[in-house]
Amino acid sequence: MSLKGTLYIVSAPSGAGKSSLINALLNISDRKQLQVSVSHTTRDPRPGEVNGEHYHFVDQAEFKGMIADNAFFEWAEVFGNFYGTSRLAIEDSLNQGIDIFLDIDWQGARQVKALMPEAKGIFILPPSREALEQRLYQRGQDSEETINKRMAQAKSEMSHYDEYDFLIINDDFDQALAEFDTIIKGQRLAQTRQSALHRNMISELLA
Ligand code: 5GP
Repeated sequence: MSLKGTLYIVSAPSGAGKSSLINALLNISDRKQLQVSVSHTTRDPRPGEVNGEHYHFVDQAEFKGMIADNAFFEWAEVFGNFYGTSRLAIEDSLNQGIDIFLDIDWQGARQVKALMPEAKGIFILPPSREALEQRLYQRGQDSEETINKRMAQAKSEMSHYDEYDFLIINDDFDQALAEFDTIIKGQRLAQTRQSALHRNMISELLA
């Protein structure tokens, strides 16, 4: 069976709960069916971040070398650092029928949609600007200067919500998680996918 996995683009302003939702969904999912792509970045690791797990942390020279080698499926400059999805990170898994999440920004999302129109975009919004600011402070990982910068960037990131196929409002976490799960499970029931999976059964039904 050579049924390809679905590529999901998941975007949100920093602090909307995107990483927590993705992690929670992975925890309740079969890892043979759903994985998250590990991006490359030139930004410094935050406390607790592990190389190869959260990101592949590389310097600018290495990142630029990968651009020159056409190793990226998409890449963008976000908050003054480079971020990119390597082709290696996604192609094998998709070919094995595994669904992949790309936790990327709107610039990357546009590139992916242009290259792979069948990819599905999911945008996560916070319930209010106040909630977003509060979450950025609670995270305690960034300096105040960075937080102020990210609040300003949040508005610009959020203005692209209508370029995505699905919209989740992360007010109540459990509800947002259930909605996220529903999107993924719903896609697996798409007619084209189901027809391919159940080809023999359907042929018999129609014989
Ligand atoms: P952070 O530095 O907080 O981990 O990520 C900052 C922003 O960069 C987030 O919006 C995140 O989704 C985005 N990002 C992370 N990896 C990639 C990537 O590979 N490509 C693109 N285009 N954006 C990314």
